[in-house]
Amino acid sequence: MAQQEDVFKKIVSHCKEYGFVFPSSDIYDGLGAVYDYGQNGVELKNNIKQYWWQSMVLLHENIVGIDAAIFMHPTTWKASGHVDAFNDPLIDNRDSKKRYRADVLIEEQMAKYEDKIQKEVEKAQKRFGDSFDEAKFRATNERVLENQKKYDDLHHRFQEVMNAEGGIDLDGLKQIILDEGIVCPISGTRNWTDVRQFNLMFKTEMGSTADGASTIYLRPETAQGIFVNYLNVQKTGRMKLPFGIAQIGKAFRNEIVARQFIFRMREFEQMEMQFFIQPGTELDWFAKWKEYRMKWHQNLGFGAENYRFHDHDKLAHYANAATDIEFHMPFGFKEVEGIHSRTNFDLSQHAKYSGKKIEYFDPETNESYTPYVIETSIGVDRMFLSIMCHSYEEQLLPDGQTRTVLHLPAALAPVKLAVFPLTKKDGMPEKAQEIINDLRFHFNCKYEEKDQIGKRYRRMDAIGCPYCVTVDQQTLEDNTVTLRDRDTMEQKRVAISDLRSIIEDKVSITSLLKKLL
Ligand code: ATP
Repeated sequence: MAQQEDVFKKIVSHCKEYGFVFPSSDIYDGLGAVYDYGQNGVELKNNIKQYWWQSMVLLHENIVGIDAAIFMHPTTWKASGHVDAFNDPLIDNRDSKKRYRADVLIEEQMAKYEDKIQKEVEKAQKRFGDSFDEAKFRATNERVLENQKKYDDLHHRFQEVMNAEGGIDLDGLKQIILDEGIVCPISGTRNWTDVRQFNLMFKTEMGSTADGASTIYLRPETAQGIFVNYLNVQKTGRMKLPFGIAQIGKAFRNEIVARQFIFRMREFEQMEMQFFIQPGTELDWFAKWKEYRMKWHQNLGFGAENYRFHDHDKLAHYANAATDIEFHMPFGFKEVEGIHSRTNFDLSQHAKYSGKKIEYFDPETNESYTPYVIETSIGVDRMFLSIMCHSYEEQLLPDGQTRTVLHLPAALAPVKLAVFPLTKKDGMPEKAQEIINDLRFHFNCKYEEKDQIGKRYRRMDAIGCPYCVTVDQQTLEDNTVTLRDRDTMEQKRVAISDLRSIIEDKVSITSLLKKLL
């Protein structure tokens, strides 16, 4: 674990050193849980967004995009439930003065029981080898059964408390923390305050601050911009159910536990798609979108073992089924995307609060109804972090040296091709520039002439550039260059005229998209 934390620290400093992610307002020592993307970060982030947008809007004839404003009419957030229910239950430890989310402390406790079971299973697996019958072991082993019971009891109690009538039972949450003997990771004590609710929305004022100014919120999710535009898009686009609306945009949450770099930020970006369907078909569509979204993730080639679904026990006030796609980060399996069956909650609420009829007339059944919704919601920043974590490697080379390399999927890499003149004379820089002038219309190229070639390779490895080309004496004679592959470090001689056809397909988002069909 300590080693994993170490790796995570290195990734954070790598992000800063190579222009991926900087603390916000760095010269003023940063702002809590707010970050800026640098020259390489913005390219990677744009590529992630493009991969998502195109997989939704380009590959689905029945999905269209919008770009709604961040500021919305304040009633939106009354209708959506965010004013009353977008709260985190907080608890403080009096000794360390640290603040925690009470629900997270309990979820971590459940994960500990799960871990214990998993360890028993792995131990037995090693001992029994091929003859191991996991199902039987889980059903009979005493230690597994004991931990399973602890897990089940806690799970059951937690669900009751979170879904209590009239909202979360705050005293019940505290009692669980006390009964389970959960201690503060910093002080190690059980000296807890009561649990309180804390609203996560940022407020500001619109208009002059004197009379007449109204309080508005910075949107805590992009989804509501889609719901309030459902009628506009359905009518002007003459959309027939089922259809989806996709959106990428900023969201803001005044997070309490704002740690772990860009995993939990106060200003972040979401890619959300709301899919409108006929009531009664939601569980089918939920299953289809689960499958498609998992495919989208695994298509990046990071290995299926690094992903898992985590079905929710604690359903949000609007959902009748929900799951997370979790990715194996250096600090454990963590949510990257949520998929929710939101019923007709949002559209019905907006109909109620706006007094407008928000329905769909189904020409096939001659009926009008409020559509149900399946939502897929992914954080761009968490996706960015998962890609960084998986791609980062400190590699020991056969000659005993080490190199830091980002094995980014080529289609997402900020720079696709670096072109180096071997020396700064004999017309090599001009030749290198000529290559770039030709290829820059097709993919992102970078010119580098400083330092020895070896150092230039290392710099490109560190930003995940998949290909480097060197212009040397021979180039001037026969128009060939050496092409070096980031991952294998192999170099081969190729004609300049072949560069585009060799590289373009491998670095284009289109090649990723084709694998999704
Ligand atoms: P968590 O349980 O981690 O707080 P959530 O379940 O509240 O997340 P959703 O409301 O489902 O998250 O939001 C959808 C996605 O938006 C999440 O899967 C995540 O990728 C992203 N996201 C949510 N909150 C943040 C945040 N504070 N910083 C970065 N990304 C976030």
